[in-house]
Amino acid sequence: MDRTQFSERLDQIMKDYRRDHKRQERELKKCLKEAEKDGDAFLVGKINLYLSMCCFELGDRVGILPYAFKAVGIFENTKEYSLLTRSYNLLGIAYVAQGNLQLSLDMYNKALKIIRERKKVGLRREVVLNNIAESYYQMGEYQKSIGIMKSCLSTCRRLSPDNHISISIYGLNLSDCYEILGNYKKSWESLDTVENNIKMLGKNILVCGYYARRACVSYGRGDAENGAKYADLALSEVQANHDTFEFHRDFEKIAMMEVQSGDYERAQRFADILSEYADKNGHTIDKIVSRRVQANISDSTGDRDRALALYKELSALYEQRRVEENAMQYESRKNAEAATREISKLMKKIRLSEERAERDPLTGLLNRSALVTITNEFIQNAKEKGRRLGGIFMDIDYFKEYNDTYGHAAGDEAIKFVSNVCMGEETSTIRFFRYGGDEFFGIVLGHTDKKLENLALHISEKIRSSGFEHSKNPNGQKLTVSIGVVNINMKSSESTILDIIKYADKALYHAKDRGKNAVFAFHAMPNSEHEYRRISAESFD
Ligand code: GH3
Ligand code: MG
Repeated sequence: MDRTQFSERLDQIMKDYRRDHKRQERELKKCLKEAEKDGDAFLVGKINLYLSMCCFELGDRVGILPYAFKAVGIFENTKEYSLLTRSYNLLGIAYVAQGNLQLSLDMYNKALKIIRERKKVGLRREVVLNNIAESYYQMGEYQKSIGIMKSCLSTCRRLSPDNHISISIYGLNLSDCYEILGNYKKSWESLDTVENNIKMLGKNILVCGYYARRACVSYGRGDAENGAKYADLALSEVQANHDTFEFHRDFEKIAMMEVQSGDYERAQRFADILSEYADKNGHTIDKIVSRRVQANISDSTGDRDRALALYKELSALYEQRRVEENAMQYESRKNAEAATREISKLMKKIRLSEERAERDPLTGLLNRSALVTITNEFIQNAKEKGRRLGGIFMDIDYFKEYNDTYGHAAGDEAIKFVSNVCMGEETSTIRFFRYGGDEFFGIVLGHTDKKLENLALHISEKIRSSGFEHSKNPNGQKLTVSIGVVNINMKSSESTILDIIKYADKALYHAKDRGKNAVFAFHAMPNSEHEYRRISAESFD
């Protein structure tokens, strides 16, 4: 068989088995052996490209890399522009799956350059642009991503208005970007714009993604009723279809928000889908996502042992992921500069995820190292949007005496109780940390002074009325806490988290000085003076 015939046979395989990618893969592997024996580089390259496409269709994102890598290696410096463009695009996708975002952008841009220069290469510009937008999204460059998605959407509507699949994908992605920026209105509107296209799709997994998006935005807006409705619709589409990989980010979000609103049953259904998928394909990142969701559910439903086991498994998975990512880095040594940039980014990501998993084993509260990560996110948000950032510093009163009187185990129970009270107040803008032995620190984003002070008051009252006796506490022989709060407008302030902790701590010590069992607020005054104000229920009359 000559090259032309062999090449046509490959195209025929792709066509004949387009609904059976496993079969496609088997046939191509047979051909690969033949072509390698003949030593025909063009055919070997083409089969590698087709095999990488099979992996993509099969959802085996890790498998894409070696094939796409070889295909690029073979077609680079040839005139096979069409095959090269598609190989670049797939290698880009493979790099994303590995977290090599900068390299993925390099590949996509190479593909774009050929499309721009040659026009007819069998790959549409929007497909590559959509992938570029995805990489920017993953890098946290949401505005760039939005700009690209918008232009894809309008180009596609203009040039091929019947391409409902592409239009739907762009709309879903756009909604995702807006949501992550907190712009729920635009996020919802993006879904409205493609609603009709989605309706035209019939049985298609994108419909599942569409409902999942609606659920996310609903929950994000605090509309739990619609959230649950759309979550159920998404779940019903999962059963009817298959590869849900693209929507796992949303599934995780939905589950987390359902946990937050106490809807554990629904959250568990999403957790089950994620676990089943992760266990089937065995990819570390999928496992991390599924265990993270499950840990959160176990944690919130009070199954501490299970949660702890999952956190342990998670920390092993993060380590495994780190090793994997390092191994991948090794492969990309050739591009030393890009690799160096990548490593530091990857390390940052790993550190971020590790810190997320770091919780205090006694109480399950976030610990101090998590404080660094989370407060950085809050500060950035507060500075960008000119919001207030508040600190709540709390310390149990006469706790040494409590331990001495009731024993250390009872002391532990009291600490756990106080932690649970704090955790019960957590939302996406309120997070609590175990700062030290009997010290707790809360960080609060975008609350008015009054709301923040009310929160502190509410917590102190909840503890005081908890029924924990403390015979050595002169303030009513009950367990009590002292609290210091501060709230700073980050728009007009150079304050760092250290300042916020310091001010709240000062107010706390003022409360301790004034007899404990009290809430005091720190107020900065002109001329770098400050004063303390006692907060009591009457303060709000
Ligand atoms: P103050 O009212 O001024 O806060 O006095 P205090 O007695 O609470 O003193 P302080 O906050 O300095 O002491 C904290 C005590 O908390 C000391 C330590 O023995 C105890 N402690 C710290 N961590 C734990 C823990 O995990 N479990 C128990 N049971 N006790 C702890
Ligand atoms: Mg104390």
